[in-house]
Amino acid sequence: MGHVIRTEEQQAAVDGLRRFLAAEAEPMFNKEYREKFVPREQMGAIVRKLTEFGLISGAVPESHGGMGLDWLTLIMLFEEVAATSIDLSVPVLINSFGAQMLQRLAPEPLQKRYLPGLLNGELFCSAGISEPDVGSNVLEIKTTARRDGDHYIINGEKTWISNGSYSDFLICTCRTGDDPRRGLTHFLLDRKEHPYEVRNIPKIAWNSQSTAQIFLTDVRVPASNMLGREGEALKNTLVMFERSRVFVAAQGLGIGRRALEEAVTYAKDRRQHGKVIAGHQLIAAMLAEMATNVDAARLLTYRAASMIEAGIPAEMEAAMAKYFACEAAVTVARQAVQIHGGNGVTREFLVEKLARDAIVVPIPEGTTQIQQLIIGRALTGVNAF
Ligand SMILES: Cc1cc2nc3c(=O)[nH]c(=O)nc-3n(C[C@H](O)[C@H](O)[C@H](O)COP(=O)(O)OP(=O)(O)OC[C@H]3O[C@@H](n4cnc5c(N)ncnc54)[C@H](O)[C@@H]3O)c2cc1C
Repeated sequence: MGHVIRTEEQQAAVDGLRRFLAAEAEPMFNKEYREKFVPREQMGAIVRKLTEFGLISGAVPESHGGMGLDWLTLIMLFEEVAATSIDLSVPVLINSFGAQMLQRLAPEPLQKRYLPGLLNGELFCSAGISEPDVGSNVLEIKTTARRDGDHYIINGEKTWISNGSYSDFLICTCRTGDDPRRGLTHFLLDRKEHPYEVRNIPKIAWNSQSTAQIFLTDVRVPASNMLGREGEALKNTLVMFERSRVFVAAQGLGIGRRALEEAVTYAKDRRQHGKVIAGHQLIAAMLAEMATNVDAARLLTYRAASMIEAGIPAEMEAAMAKYFACEAAVTVARQAVQIHGGNGVTREFLVEKLARDAIVVPIPEGTTQIQQLIIGRALTGVNAF
C-alpha cells in the first residue's frame, strides 16, 4: 500500500504476475483448497505456470538454464505469491533453493539430471536439515551417512520437511564425521532410487502444502550423489541461509501486507456508531501502525535482497529482515482480526487464516530468537549461542 519504487520492467513483471495470481491462485488457495491439502498434480500444475514468470527459474543464471533475474526483482515477485497464498509460496521457495544448491554444489551429471526439471516446475525437492532433536542446534545433526565402498548408507529421521510428500528428491544433511562443524555432508536422495518414507504433519496452518517427517532406513546412495565436498555441508548451508532468510522475510511481508489490505477494505465498509469504522480514530491509528510495520518489513527485506545482488555480505541484514518481517506479520494479522471484530474469527473472512499463517512464519529458517542472536553477534563480535 505504501509506495514502492520499481523499474518499468519490474512493474510490468509484478503486474503480469498479479493478474495471473488473482485469476488462478486466489480462487484455488483461498477458496477451493483453503482448508484442504493440494494434491501433487494440482500443485505441480500451478508451480509450472509460475516458472514462466521467473519464479524458481529466476533464481538460477541463464548459463545454467535459468532466467537469471536480479535478487530484488525475484523478491518483489515472491512477495506477490506470499501475499496471495503462503501455501503456494512454500514449494516456490524450497524448489528455488534446491535449484540454487544444485547449480552451486552438484556435480555436472546431477545438475543435468535434476536442474532442468526443477526450473520448469516438473520436479519438486526437499531440504532435510531438522530432526526430532535438532532444530536451532544444526551442529548436532544425528542422521548418519556411513561409507560402504562407492556408496553411503544413510540412517536417521528428518522432521518439518517442507515439500516432503511432493518431493522427487531430498537434499539431506548427514553426519559423515565426528567434528560438529566439519562432519556434515549433503547428499541427493532420489525418492524412487533411494526410497525414503514420508508422513505429512498436520499443523495450525500451512496445511494446503506438505510439511513432513522423513524416515531414512539403510538408504544406499552412490558417493557420486554428494553435493559439495565431504564435510562442507555446514559452510554451504550457512551461505544458503543468508539468502533463504530473505525469502522467508518476504513470506512474512506478504502475509502482513495481505492482512493490511483486508483490514483497510473492511474498515471502509463496516459501519458502527453512525459511520464507517475507518472514521474512528483508534481504528485509523491501528491501520497506521500496521501500514508502517508492513512498509518497514518491506524496506528491510528489499535492502537485504539488494545487498545479496550486489555481492555484499548480508548475514545481519538478512537476519534483521527475517526477524522483523515475520514478527510484524503476527502483529499485523492479529490487528486485522481485531478490526474485523467477530467476523475476523470466522472462516468467512481471510484474516482468520492469515492470523494462523502468520504464527508459523517466525519459526522456520532460524527462529526469531536465533535471528536476534545473529544480530547480537554481528554487533558485538561476541557469540551468545
Ligand atoms: C512450517 C515449517 C516448515 C519447515 N521446513 C523445514 C524444511 O524444509 N527443512 C528443515 O530442515 N527444517 C524445516 N523446518 C524446521 C525449522 O527450521 C525448525 O523448526 C526451527 O529451526 C526451530 O527448531 P525447533 O522447532 O526444533 O525449535 P527449538 O530449536 O527446539 O527451539 C524451541 C524454542 O527455543 C528457542 N531457542 C532455541 N535455542 C535458543 C538459544 N540458544 N537461545 C534462545 N532461544 C533459543 C527457539 O527460538 C524456540 O523459541 C520447518 C519448520 C516449520 C514450522
